[in-house]
Amino acid sequence: MGARRSQAQHTKQCVVPRRDARCTTVPKGSFFRISCTEGPQVGDLNLWSASDLAEHFYSGKTRALHGTHVSTGDRLWSRFPSMRPMATVFEDTLDWYGWDADGGSVHDVIGTRCDPYTGRLLSSTDYHYCCHSNLTRALADHADLTVQEAEGFVHDVLNVFMCTGFTADTHQYFMKASPVRVGDHLEFFAEIDLVVGLSACPGGDCGAEHSSDTAACYPLVIDVFQNADPFPEPARNAYDRSHGR
Ligand SMILES: [Zn+2]
Repeated sequence: MGARRSQAQHTKQCVVPRRDARCTTVPKGSFFRISCTEGPQVGDLNLWSASDLAEHFYSGKTRALHGTHVSTGDRLWSRFPSMRPMATVFEDTLDWYGWDADGGSVHDVIGTRCDPYTGRLLSSTDYHYCCHSNLTRALADHADLTVQEAEGFVHDVLNVFMCTGFTADTHQYFMKASPVRVGDHLEFFAEIDLVVGLSACPGGDCGAEHSSDTAACYPLVIDVFQNADPFPEPARNAYDRSHGR
């Protein structure tokens, strides 16, 4: 993979505005890098197969296979019935963070994504720029769908740069300010042809408030480094799907 990366050429840049999302395509055998360029900012990542939006990232299975947080060498798996690697973490400048004294780490596959439904449940207000809605609008624009059609394809995320864990006493999910700084990045190898969706979370560094315009927020950048050499994508899962019938 290192040789493929050293021969890859920078072909595309996609800027994700703050409190918004964008989708971009990445060919298999190429690399995409998510960078923090202006200030501490968390990103919510969705992945779809470019040839079939129904094949999307499966954060729960990825968590079961690799743990609550991912880093270099871990793979992001697709949902049933394909269940194959969609992307592999190639480089992580936050590898140094490891696990902190509270049991926190970065890049989790625990949380779901901030969304307007939970906001409505908890505060009876409507906020339209949560990651769920941002990803919905971005996919609608990318795939020429209505927002209602696109919403059904939006799924649980990889929380890029986010710092999270479970409390030692009651094992509840917590988040704290991300250690990400300008210049940090998380880079992936694309195992299949991908549509990459990324939301610059309205929580900013996610140290305090979500689901409002209160937190300081910054754009994120996706750079694509393409390698045109042929790459055989991983086969779809071989289970026969007869399910005992
Ligand atoms: Zn969010």
